Amino acid sequence: MKVEIVPGCIACGACVSINSDVFELTDTIHVHQDMVSGNEEDCKAAADACPVNVIKIVE
Ligand code: SF4
Repeated sequence: MKVEIVPGCIACGACVSINSDVFELTDTIHVHQDMVSGNEEDCKAAADACPVNVIKIVE
């Protein structure tokens, strides 16, 4: 699984609150791709929770 962020993140922090190992919010959102393995369900939950739908799951 690969997690991508498309433009439009509003830095709400919802994904970080779901999994702060995968998602890190600094000036913008960063995905730690090396942490996705083992956290796939959280990645899917974050994609569902993102209010602007910018988290894309690539299988
Ligand atoms: S949930 Fe979406 S809008 Fe919120 S910080 Fe994460 S990527 Fe950005």
